[in-house]
Amino acid sequence: MHGIPDSSENPENNDQSNELDDLRGLVDSIDDGILGLLAERRQVARKIAAEKHRAERPFRDDLREEALLIDRLTAAGKYELDADLVSRVWEQIMADSLRVQFDYVQNSVNGRKDAVVIAIQGVAGSNSHRAALALTPDMREREFVACTRFADAVTAVKDGRANIAVLPIENTTSGAIAEVYDLLLESKVSIVGEVKVHVKHCLVGVKGASIADLKTIHGHPQSVAQCSNFLAGLADVEVIYATDTALSAKRIAEIDNPTVAAIANEEAADLYGLEILESGINNRKTNYTRFVAVAAEPATVDPQVPAKTSLVLSVSNEAGSLAEVLNAFRTEEIPLVKLESRPMVNNAWQEMFYMDFEGNLGDQRVQRVLEEVRRHTMYLRVLGTYPSRDLRPHRRPAPEPERVIQVSTPGSQHAEKSSSDGPYRLAGRKDRATETVVDVNGVIIGGPELVMIAGPCAVESIDQVMKTAKAVKESGGKLLRGGCFKPRTSPYSFQGLGWEGLDMLAEAGRVYGLPIVTEVTAPEHVERMAEKADVLQIGTRNMQNFALLNEVGRINRPVLLKRGMSASIDEFLQAAEYILAGGNQRVILCERGIRTFETSSRNTLDVTAVPVLRRRTHLPVIVDPSHAAGDRELVVPLATAGAAIGAHGIMVEIHPDPENALSDGPQSLTLEAFDQLMETLSQRVQPAITP
Ligand code: PEP
Ligand code: MN
Repeated sequence: MHGIPDSSENPENNDQSNELDDLRGLVDSIDDGILGLLAERRQVARKIAAEKHRAERPFRDDLREEALLIDRLTAAGKYELDADLVSRVWEQIMADSLRVQFDYVQNSVNGRKDAVVIAIQGVAGSNSHRAALALTPDMREREFVACTRFADAVTAVKDGRANIAVLPIENTTSGAIAEVYDLLLESKVSIVGEVKVHVKHCLVGVKGASIADLKTIHGHPQSVAQCSNFLAGLADVEVIYATDTALSAKRIAEIDNPTVAAIANEEAADLYGLEILESGINNRKTNYTRFVAVAAEPATVDPQVPAKTSLVLSVSNEAGSLAEVLNAFRTEEIPLVKLESRPMVNNAWQEMFYMDFEGNLGDQRVQRVLEEVRRHTMYLRVLGTYPSRDLRPHRRPAPEPERVIQVSTPGSQHAEKSSSDGPYRLAGRKDRATETVVDVNGVIIGGPELVMIAGPCAVESIDQVMKTAKAVKESGGKLLRGGCFKPRTSPYSFQGLGWEGLDMLAEAGRVYGLPIVTEVTAPEHVERMAEKADVLQIGTRNMQNFALLNEVGRINRPVLLKRGMSASIDEFLQAAEYILAGGNQRVILCERGIRTFETSSRNTLDVTAVPVLRRRTHLPVIVDPSHAAGDRELVVPLATAGAAIGAHGIMVEIHPDPENALSDGPQSLTLEAFDQLMETLSQRVQPAITP
């Protein structure tokens, strides 16, 4: 024994330390009393919330709050307490009371529930588990769905096996959690809540373990990164990665070897009967992880509750468009609280920006900002509006309740607008100074170059699609097309190979380095198809399938929208408007022939539509001569006409053996004829069109 004096040897010391112990005991009991009173005060705040809600009284009452603080400050003098201390303590107490009331009103808005099923990555005792508890303070029953991957937790929500998934999104030491950001973009779930959890890493071991004897440490890669300084001080210790912090604790409990330790939190140590060898081993003591709760449906936040809104967007090709986006927030004086960027999943050199700002989608200022932001973006999606506990409640009164307008449902949004803006405000030229250029994995549609898209009407076999892709590539085509789900007029005609066909098309595209275009016929197919297809086509028969238009409006993939065979140009642009209003700005229009009294061709290519569209919209316009003609002899002259009238691209159907094609054989060019067409077109100069 050394260092600690044995107080029993000195009676004087003994007295002093007894007195100190007594005083400390007194402080402890006073503190306990304070905690008890705080808890009691909270209970009363909850009752006040219920009462205000019942009486439809506003939650914020600035005058009463001011008066209360002044009363406390006056009383402070009586107790000879420092006014500054009292004012700081009561600001916190009042903020807590407000949060309690906000939670109450928010739960009432979304329907009071007392049981919830929560999907988390990891097992009990993980930080996700702690976050989930913190996010649902009033729940009587919580059931957990433990998942191995973040994506599985999201799937549990989408499948209805869980009400919410709680996912870590960023950490104050190690930064953004990229996988979760990408998941938010790719899946259709909405953010409905957030919470920050203080992460205190501990080195934990089984009974008898000591730091000096350790040989192995289990830990989550994030935890290991956040404790790198401590770990660097240990000699000859091997680190083994685990999928979550609590799991590493669980595992070492099972291994039960004193030379094996784990990085985990105190809860996990407790849960798995482990001892804490060293507490707080994180490099930075202020180590917080922010978690978000996601649900299948967006939440509505009561206007009185401080809220954040999260967006994901990609900016348009105009110079300075990101600055314009930021400026829109400044103009409306809406504080941005976060801006994060991630490379696009399919376009590595383009960035997606994630933004969090203070504000509620139901607030008209937010609606105005989003409208302005949309003008400068290629893709915009609202990830959700949710109550935020870490925004300081504002001193000024909360905005008056306003009608809640859903951004991703175009109808409601535009009902707000005056008709003088025209029916296609986003597709029209008025809103955008420059042409929209759609970048499909490096293939630019909407620029000066005529882009050729070719492939079979339908994918029939791997052999057929491989042969075709090879020809497309060798002749200079830029995109490979092919139908997998075919919307056939007759139910007895070949309906396409479905998902199997999509795999074949994707494989051919991969082998020959050609992005692929395929038709989507059902809203429920959109998300899955977007995983493999580079461009989603909406066929002529679906141009006014509004459910489908809304669905492709929400995804981050370019859409090739064909003109309805009986649709006017105006209706065509309004269909495009649906997609743009959903957030997706990468829309390519396709003139493919319309129904007229003329029967000598399958349809009549409306050549006039191309320059008219180019005058009215900033969106790229392409021509499909194959479906217009219905006859391969007519395809070449119509394709040439398309190039001559200013189309940005031509899409043709080609087949290695058109005579035996399962669909649209008569209009399909042979691979040789396609090569000749490419030769013919390469000698033409595209006319300049002045909008
Ligand atoms: C197609 O391109 O395969 C197709 C079915 O076209 P449309 O919708 O123009 O008939
Ligand atoms: Mn076809």
